[in-house]
Amino acid sequence: DHVLTESEFVRQNDLRYPFEERGLQFGDGIYEVIRVYGGSYYLIKEHVERFYRSAEAVKIDVPYTKKELYEQLDQLLELNKVKGDAKVYLQMTRGSAPRDHAFPSETKANLYAYVKDLPRSKNAMLDGVTAITHPDVRWDWCYIKSLNLLPNVMAKQAAKEEGCYEAVLHKDGEVTECSSSNVYLVRGGKVYTHPAKKNILHGCVRMRIEEFCKDENIDFIEEAFRVEDFQYADEVFITSSTSEVMPVLKVDQQVIGNGRPGQLTRTLQKCYERDAGITKKE
Ligand code: PLP
Repeated sequence: DHVLTESEFVRQNDLRYPFEERGLQFGDGIYEVIRVYGGSYYLIKEHVERFYRSAEAVKIDVPYTKKELYEQLDQLLELNKVKGDAKVYLQMTRGSAPRDHAFPSETKANLYAYVKDLPRSKNAMLDGVTAITHPDVRWDWCYIKSLNLLPNVMAKQAAKEEGCYEAVLHKDGEVTECSSSNVYLVRGGKVYTHPAKKNILHGCVRMRIEEFCKDENIDFIEEAFRVEDFQYADEVFITSSTSEVMPVLKVDQQVIGNGRPGQLTRTLQKCYERDAGITKKE
């Protein structure tokens, strides 16, 4: 239960956030969720690069070099003796200062990271999951992994209340991504997904999916599709660092393809496992 804060490690119970923390009062900060398999980070470089990109986009000065951050993240796993599958949550806020919307002038950014065991969702990945559609009411800069997650929270809760795993977000019918994952539609052996514009998060797993498709000679088409297109889909899947490559069998009342996880999704699941070094370890 060691957590990293302000370049120091403390026990989780000893961690106290000041009330006037900009992360708490404004959601004024950024974060990452990084997957760990068998005690080692997966896609760490992609996550750290995105962390710095998010920070720069919201003008937070990260008071650590990338090298220092990598060292601290390694130390976090060592101190907590992480040997299995886990996730690391990494957060940086603009800092603590008397409440005022404008940036405080002399406040240092606050860093915080913890690690938590996270077994892989093997059954869900084997059997597939269901999703609802939900309006995407978020702002225009979703490529920034910001702490402002209320629209995502509302969407995920709506999915949960329908007994579903995810909410597929759409703007006037055009599918963007999901509440905490990217979404893909497979038709005629081609993979379609929303282009990596500013209005979606550029998933680290999404980047890999593009490469897996290249390796497997599958067309990866960055073209937005619409909610109505689900009726013509052969397969649908979502990706994220926690969900990996997850088959989606139903969206609202629409059964996808033959209602079972598809072959192309299975191929990409295998690519993921190979890339993450999972097959070797198990
Ligand atoms: N889209 C959103 C809104 C997310 O919150 C996430 C991650 O949690 C993703 C996509 C997937 O990103 P990644 O593949 O980097 O985990």
